[in-house]
Amino acid sequence: MPHPFPDQPINWRRQVLGHLDSLSAAGVTWLPNAPPLSLPPTLTEAPAAAAPPPPVTPAAAAGAEPAPASPLEQRRQALQMLAAEVKGCMKCPELASTRTQTVFADGPPGVELCFIGEAPGADEDAQGLPFVGAAGQLLNKIIAACGMKREEVYICNILKCRPPGNRTPLPIEASNCRGFLERQLELVQPKFICALGGSAAANLLQTTTPIGKLRGRFHDWRGIPVMVTYHPAYLLPHRSPEKKKDVWEDMKILLARMGRPVPART
Ligand code: SF4
Repeated sequence: MPHPFPDQPINWRRQVLGHLDSLSAAGVTWLPNAPPLSLPPTLTEAPAAAAPPPPVTPAAAAGAEPAPASPLEQRRQALQMLAAEVKGCMKCPELASTRTQTVFADGPPGVELCFIGEAPGADEDAQGLPFVGAAGQLLNKIIAACGMKREEVYICNILKCRPPGNRTPLPIEASNCRGFLERQLELVQPKFICALGGSAAANLLQTTTPIGKLRGRFHDWRGIPVMVTYHPAYLLPHRSPEKKKDVWEDMKILLARMGRPVPART
């Protein structure tokens, strides 16, 4: 018999009991052994427990998915993690045991120009930032003369630890630290690099050519143009201040390649 109300659930138990009552009233005292009934799952199985609703975050409540970090922000965070890794580095036993702290870099990723020096000096070792001593003050003036601000460039060194007495980095030390520098540059992705001094140029470009023959023209590091010039420390009054004009010539070539105006020198 068709269900009289097809859009409502069937009460199978009540129907069976009602049928047995009517049979009993009619004098039926037994029934044949029938094959097992195939009942709807709703009568044989407990309903599955409903999954708990997901927690409601403020962003979800506002109807918005949390925004993923931008590629630049991801690179900034990766640089922070790399700096933390450098902080615990003990690859160069002498440097690791004599440093006050590691000196990773100054500046944000994604800038146009990256300056690379040799290694931290006493002031840098004390402050944890590159180029903050007398040579750093001169570098600041060079950057300003180029029409830029220090915050607009990235500054780092070949070595992240100060060699005792400011001695030249040993080849093994430069080799130990090279992986950090390469990862750093891959994350910063500067469009131009300026290597400051013969040691920085030799280590970055893996060359033994003296700086006098490297400076004033472009080299290449993984597709990035590299200008080589003298280290600011070399330009200090007690060393070779007359070389400042050579540095300015190198900077003018760099600025022209960057498509920037060359400010008149005061
Ligand atoms: S100079 Fe570089 S490789 Fe050597 S101990 Fe310092 S961070 Fe490590």
